[in-house]
Amino acid sequence: MNRDVLIVGGAVMGSAVAYYLKSMDPAVSVAVVERDSTYARSSTVLSDGNVRIQFNLEENIRISQYAFDVLATFADDMEVGGYRPEPGARHQGNLFLADLEHRADALAGMEAQQALGCDVGWIDEPEIAARWPIFAGPHYIGGTFGPGDGSVDPNAVLRGYRQRAVEMGADFVEGEVAELICDGDRMVGVCLVSGEEFRAPVVVNCAGAWSPPLLAGIGVDLPVLPFMRNVFIVDSHLEWEGDLPSVFLPSGLYVLPEGDGKFLVAWSLPDDLIGFDFTVRRSKFFDRIWPELIEHFPAFDQLDIAGSWAGLYAVNTLDGNAIIGEWPEIGGLYVCTGFSGHGFQQCHAVGRYLAELILERDPVLDLSRLGPQRVIDGNPLHEHAGRLI
Ligand SMILES: Cc1cc2nc3c(=O)[nH]c(=O)nc-3n(C[C@H](O)[C@H](O)[C@H](O)COP(=O)(O)OP(=O)(O)OC[C@H]3O[C@@H](n4cnc5c(N)ncnc54)[C@H](O)[C@@H]3O)c2cc1C
Repeated sequence: MNRDVLIVGGAVMGSAVAYYLKSMDPAVSVAVVERDSTYARSSTVLSDGNVRIQFNLEENIRISQYAFDVLATFADDMEVGGYRPEPGARHQGNLFLADLEHRADALAGMEAQQALGCDVGWIDEPEIAARWPIFAGPHYIGGTFGPGDGSVDPNAVLRGYRQRAVEMGADFVEGEVAELICDGDRMVGVCLVSGEEFRAPVVVNCAGAWSPPLLAGIGVDLPVLPFMRNVFIVDSHLEWEGDLPSVFLPSGLYVLPEGDGKFLVAWSLPDDLIGFDFTVRRSKFFDRIWPELIEHFPAFDQLDIAGSWAGLYAVNTLDGNAIIGEWPEIGGLYVCTGFSGHGFQQCHAVGRYLAELILERDPVLDLSRLGPQRVIDGNPLHEHAGRLI
């Protein structure tokens, strides 16, 4: 089977790339090979769905600004046959707490965001304790608050892009890519586990945390590892009136309100297991997460675990940021991985950007600094101090 563009992996990135390709050029033929249309282990559906303007790198801030623009009309734009994929945006706001040690970094980030027109401000500790008493704690001096940040339903965004891409003529093929095929320094297609071959001059690898092994098969080594992350839903038995923000501690532990006294709690740690493992380790909660949580917010001393899951971050160990663009040494090979825990919100801008590169249009948003050349050069582009959320 021949196509103009072949996309490996049809979760949120693969579906967004297919959507933008077809919407920019209806004549381009696109096939997306996805091995599991239930998406049970895709990072997309295992994501927390948090979308935030609070990044430090200009590219990441602008990527989020575009995400909020797209999400505002997403259900209307992606409606097909009466099914409206409502992203269900909850703008509860993200509050990034800072202690004395992290105050300067937090203020520098806030100023970068404000300079780009973002609605973000600093709140002192007494005001935080007065507005949201359950987040009163002894270890921080204040925090930056982005009232527009919040949560979005990853399933709706994935289904929305996929169904619109299909409506515009993209083929979604159920199958597993066994290997990428190149001829010298040019991509020519992929071979499936079934033995079937797809020929295409452009191959976009959107296989998430599974991208590096596929790329290694054609000699492309990416510094991206599958870090297993655990997420816990806890019942705090706390009651309050009004809205609560999503709160991020300086250590990276975060607490997202889910309603009815429940919270999503998680903490990415450098010694989290690496591998394609989806086992929940409750010991991580009891040994590491809960003690840190209580130390900062004593109100959380009586809670039960109400749910949990595990998913993979595709962690770019060079600098914790996306690697997106054509691989300089193999024409027609586009990489799209390394999102390191913030890729869900980036699918809109990244999907548009890769489609623009493939179709040789001028990108609306210049994301070239996130391209693969920096990996080849060993030139990191850090978001901030190497800490991952
Ligand atoms: C616990 C957790 C919380 C997160 N929270 C957030 C958050 O709050 N905000 C945010 O922005 N991001 C978050 N992320 C990160 C975000 O989920 C990912 O960056 C994003 O979903 C990556 O999308 P993707 O399409 O690249 O990868 P995936 O969603 O992993 O999709 C890859 C797809 O490729 C398919 N595939 C793999 N190999 C093959 C093959 N050989 N052949 C065919 N198909 C293949 C897989 O089946 C899968 O469907 C979180 C991630 C996790 C795990």
